[in-house]
Amino acid sequence: MCPSCGIRLARGERGYWLGAYFVNLMAVETLFAGLLGVALWWTWPTPPWEAIKWTLAAAMVVFPFLLYPWSHTLFLAFDLLMRPPTAEDFAAPPEPSPAVPRRRR
Ligand SMILES: [Zn+2]
Repeated sequence: MCPSCGIRLARGERGYWLGAYFVNLMAVETLFAGLLGVALWWTWPTPPWEAIKWTLAAAMVVFPFLLYPWSHTLFLAFDLLMRPPTAEDFAAPPEPSPAVPRRRR
């Protein structure tokens, strides 16, 4: 839930994270192309291919994790543009969050 307005961050559908994943993938691919372009522009005509390769490979492992919270929020913003919020979006979540351990019965 948003601590400010109380809207649920997953809007009542299973697999809601897939949209955030898609936004994250697009952001990281754009970042990859941008970083590669800057590296080539900066070092042309003798680009250090090995350094570029390993630096970008490491960046492509780290950045998806770093950017996921913003990707999720950006996807939620797009979704709210397409489907305006309803009262359901501010209700308590229908299923327990996977981050919260379940109580024993
Ligand atoms: Zn909010």
